[in-house]
Amino acid sequence: MSGVDHKRLMIPGPIEIRKEILEAQSQWMIGHRSGEFKKLFSELQAKLKQAFLTENRVYVSTSSGSGLWEATSRCCVRDDRKVLHLTNGAFSNRWADVSRANGKQVDVLSVNWGEGVTPDLVEDALKNDHYDAVCLVHSETSTGVVSPVKEIGEVISRYEDTLFLLDTVSGVLGAELRTDDWKVDVALTSSQKAFALSPGMAFGAVSDRVLARAEQIEFRGYYFDFLTLEKNLAKDNTPTTPPISIMFAANQQLDDVLAEGLENRWARHLQMRDRTIEWAQDRGFELYAAEGFRSPTVTCIKNTLGIDVFEMEAFMAEKGFAMDKGYGKIKGETFRIAHMGDMQPETLEEVLAGLDEFIGK
Ligand SMILES: *Cc1c(COP(=O)(O)O)cnc(C)c1O
Repeated sequence: MSGVDHKRLMIPGPIEIRKEILEAQSQWMIGHRSGEFKKLFSELQAKLKQAFLTENRVYVSTSSGSGLWEATSRCCVRDDRKVLHLTNGAFSNRWADVSRANGKQVDVLSVNWGEGVTPDLVEDALKNDHYDAVCLVHSETSTGVVSPVKEIGEVISRYEDTLFLLDTVSGVLGAELRTDDWKVDVALTSSQKAFALSPGMAFGAVSDRVLARAEQIEFRGYYFDFLTLEKNLAKDNTPTTPPISIMFAANQQLDDVLAEGLENRWARHLQMRDRTIEWAQDRGFELYAAEGFRSPTVTCIKNTLGIDVFEMEAFMAEKGFAMDKGYGKIKGETFRIAHMGDMQPETLEEVLAGLDEFIGK
């Protein structure tokens, strides 16, 4: 296992975490109503704003990313209005289910899996109907598809009353995201994907427009109410006990991320994506995601060589890598290689060399 003492995660979440970050997580506990916590919270807040490129606040939620799906559905869509879900894979579909489960009126605009959502499609939908919010998944982790957030944000911003809600769980910090410039009202993510932290926490960059909307909705629920999070954020705190250990780790991780520089980080991801695509095509595989819509953080490969993905997984496990076998309805027909977080191109080369050995054996 090349000197590595554990199986390295090449699956698209949870992903590999650096040892220093795991160690930052094992500090002695502090109380969340203490001065030490206030300091931790405010440091983290400043760094999160830089990471999301926003002047607004970034909430910390004690949940996985799906908790913030619930928050957006409940706090952004009025009972007598509709929400538009743009779907092109398993996660965007599930977010629409969350809105339905919260009793919202949902319209779905779906494009084929493997394709990206285009600004023209969004424009057509908004011309024909009024929506309180439009929900888009930045990087569809199930299919490795990235959609053009900036261009879609431009379209939505022409409709005054419509909020732009973005799931960037396998995006932010890996794929370029400029929350404010791109007119995103909510950008939400989980700790365990492109942020390269342990699971258990979610982050949501939220605009003032969202808070104004939430004021108009009576039943926003309790745990994921943005207005409650806002009240507590003003005191550098959270309404309920937060995952303090992961916050220690996040504080350290964001120092390292900002030291690398967001643009360098985005470029490293693009480099790894391009290398993965080149490898796959060179070996005779096809890509699941359409050209021009390939995610910087995860590549979904069509299993056109007909490899046994279970055997591949077992072979790679022997080499110390945990591999993916495809997700949802395209399991087995595809497999994905995650190249996100703190992964370096050298590690990707080790993975690809292992896969070559498997294919050639
Ligand atoms: C993993 C994932 C989710 C779900 O996140 P959880 O943290 O498991 O709740 C949502 N959206 C996308 C795009 C994902 O990749």
